[in-house]
Amino acid sequence: LVSAHAVDTAEEAADIRRLRPARLAEYVGQEPIRRQMEIFIAAARGRSEALDHVLLFGPPGLGKTTLAHIVANEMGVGLRQTSGPVLERPGDLAAILTNLQPNDVLFIDEIHRLSPIVEEILYPAMEDYQLDILIGEGPAARSIKLDLPPFTLVGATTRAGLLTSPLRDRFGIVQRLEFYNPEELARIVARSAGILEIPIEPDAVAAIARRSRGTPRIVNRLLRRARDFAQIKGNGRLTGDIAELALSMLEVDQCGFDMLDRKLLLAVIEKFSGGPVGVDNLAAAIGEERDTIEDVIEPFLIQQGYLMRTPRGRLATASAWRHFGLKAPSSPEQ
Ligand code: ADP
Repeated sequence: LVSAHAVDTAEEAADIRRLRPARLAEYVGQEPIRRQMEIFIAAARGRSEALDHVLLFGPPGLGKTTLAHIVANEMGVGLRQTSGPVLERPGDLAAILTNLQPNDVLFIDEIHRLSPIVEEILYPAMEDYQLDILIGEGPAARSIKLDLPPFTLVGATTRAGLLTSPLRDRFGIVQRLEFYNPEELARIVARSAGILEIPIEPDAVAAIARRSRGTPRIVNRLLRRARDFAQIKGNGRLTGDIAELALSMLEVDQCGFDMLDRKLLLAVIEKFSGGPVGVDNLAAAIGEERDTIEDVIEPFLIQQGYLMRTPRGRLATASAWRHFGLKAPSSPEQ
């Protein structure tokens, strides 16, 4: 329902477009990235060149797609958006590349899921703005080279380690997005409430900020749901009490953990005595994909100090036991 783990639904699309910052100056947080990008963009613009290729990595909902759009806006160029799994054949990518305008941004989401044959096309395209394609089959096959306009590839992925090293090495700019702190999240709540014209009280801003898993996408989702509660259970004004009511009905707990977070932590504690447990066993125990655990669920739990990644597997920390009112067994690893 409100899980971090779902993608945005179609009905939410209109709000999402309005809420997405269009300029670097509106992009909250990620200060080091903002400061660097400002300089790289100004320098590329000053030389009338395409910006160097940019790799963005980090958990879902932290602003990778938003940043790709901002790069295009700040460069004053167009943006084409696609994703790794969509580009099935080399021709799919070739069609997009040959249609770019000079200095355009090509945004490839989930770039770690490109097929190897498509990835091969990307190497000379990134390096020399050249397309190398094979036409025909067997002995009649021949390779042709085409010049491409200069362009900026912005690739997004959940973990940089998922990329092959030849691909990773071809990005001149590599940025890792971090979870947002409560103060930054509060700025995002207030900004979004302003755009959606939701009358909101400071207590509600703080409650949503504190419980949104460090993630702007979740801020916006919780805010929209809390707005529904304010409309139906109150007089339209989003007060602290209404926000608390909404959050508890959505089963978002005091730490911002949702059902999946709790399911994972409880499995480590109850089924594996606190761990260490290998991620595949954990995936089987909770009926989730290993990738979902690694990309979506555990990064926040690890960052918050509830879960540890050790060579022998995942380990629940004392904070995790305490979260459920349990006492951690004393073991040398805790
Ligand atoms: P990702 O591509 O990393 O999954 P998105 O760029 O789609 O994440 O971000 C999700 C939503 O969160 C966006 O629609 C935007 O409204 C909001 N958002 C993301 N980053 C920021 C930010 N730095 N400041 C304000 N809002 C943000």
